[in-house]
Amino acid sequence: TFFSDNARVGLTFDDITLATRYSEILPRLTKVDMRLSEQLVLNIPLISADMDTVTEAEMAAAMARNGGLGIIHYNMPEKRQIREVAKVKNDVHGLIQEPIAISPESHIADVLEMIEIRGFKFHTFPVVDIQNKLVGLLRGRVVKSRYRGVKVADAMTPLEQVFTIQESDIADDPIGAADRFFNDHMGIHKLIVLDKGGHLKGLFTMSDIERIREEESRDVKPSRDASFQLVCGAAISATRTPAGELDRDRILEHASNLVSEGIDALAVSTAHGHSAGVGDVVKLLRGEFKDLSLIAGNVTSAEGVEYLSKCGADAVKVGQGPGSICTTRIVAGVGIPQLTALYVCSKAAEKTGTAIIADGGITKSGDIVKALTLGNAVMCGSLFAGCREAPGSILEINGKLFKQYRGMGSLTAMKAGSAARYGHESHAKKSDKVAAEGIEALKEVSGSLDDTLRQLVGGLQSGMGYLGASNLAELRSRARYIRVSPAGQRESSPHDVVELKTTKED
Ligand code: 5GP
Repeated sequence: TFFSDNARVGLTFDDITLATRYSEILPRLTKVDMRLSEQLVLNIPLISADMDTVTEAEMAAAMARNGGLGIIHYNMPEKRQIREVAKVKNDVHGLIQEPIAISPESHIADVLEMIEIRGFKFHTFPVVDIQNKLVGLLRGRVVKSRYRGVKVADAMTPLEQVFTIQESDIADDPIGAADRFFNDHMGIHKLIVLDKGGHLKGLFTMSDIERIREEESRDVKPSRDASFQLVCGAAISATRTPAGELDRDRILEHASNLVSEGIDALAVSTAHGHSAGVGDVVKLLRGEFKDLSLIAGNVTSAEGVEYLSKCGADAVKVGQGPGSICTTRIVAGVGIPQLTALYVCSKAAEKTGTAIIADGGITKSGDIVKALTLGNAVMCGSLFAGCREAPGSILEINGKLFKQYRGMGSLTAMKAGSAARYGHESHAKKSDKVAAEGIEALKEVSGSLDDTLRQLVGGLQSGMGYLGASNLAELRSRARYIRVSPAGQRESSPHDVVELKTTKED
């Protein structure tokens, strides 16, 4: 009714405010988990954008550790994207079920090369024979360049001196069993799990166990899959062959590789999702991977949501032109202010049972509260691009610290993408002729993602407290909107005072 009364007007976050409601709800006790699909539940409704200055492995792992989800961008060679996903999935485990093991016949040089190629952060490896029987442990302290020529068999700690535990002894409570072992064996940081025949079955590391224990005491739990690995998403493109055909083989091969790494959600990510190009890719993936969570977008119409859910999408991204680095509305004259777009899309999604991800234009926690009165999760680029976990180095300009943030439709991002993905000079040159729909920008460095998310989730929970909503479903049903006049907007921000900036230390 509010939005349908204002149907011909495009409204966005600052155009409205939410009315307070009677409440018995304490903000810190509100629940902010959401279901993205049958298989995937997030503990906070925040997703980091699949952009090359926002989400690679480090951001995705940090998002999942905080209960959200990161979608790794595709502006890189496919092999590298798979590696980024593998880094997230290998990040922390209770029990590492398939530890990377090496042969006693290889040399330290081979191990160093493998670490480099696969981007491992750890340097200790179980050593196994051809039958996968444990023969020793190669410790990180000998995996050094100066020992390159030494054979692993000569460098490893022999089996008799390696701490192991039987699979059957940890069955009931693996984390508890490992925790007790590390308590009882001061200075030992690795515990290897074997079956009766001495075959390698798993590995515990003390730092993983400590991290898990620490996580258990937090209010917001990490988002993990059934095997206790962090969840991770990846975007894939809907690009066609030069002849304009769906590149079935390439798409399916890449998707299968991502699925083998344990990917939790694939996002078919484009500027115009209500199109045959995107629909065909979603249908192809749905046909092949029945249980995989599929996100598709972007759309801003009810028909767009219906189309993509019919093609098989579990979640649809909504947003055309609200992004901070986006120029679609200026260049193409197209797009719908974000709250109105979310309203029409959420109406359609109620019928199809599709989750709605509000993508773009979020600049503060209040916008998240408003977006979640209509959608199920939000995707942010700009809010995370200044965090330590975002890719890219820090620049200093006049004593202030910045990181690069650019639209995926900006000229430089398009060039990097086409050049890297296809290795074709011609594509790189062609992108000069395409009208850019995004800009390159800088974001002031904003510290760690943990702090940023704590502020954003805290703001969301305050909003829920004001509306008397104990969970996100109640937030949607209890929302009442008020349109704000220009004077009301001025009143909404601090005004008529000189603001004092206090730092945390104060
Ligand atoms: P932000 O959170 O910075 O406001 O918006 C991020 C979102 O903007 C992304 O998730 C994506 O949907 C959109 N986006 C990213 N790059 C571009 C671009 O170059 N042009 C347009 N139109 N949108 C972009």
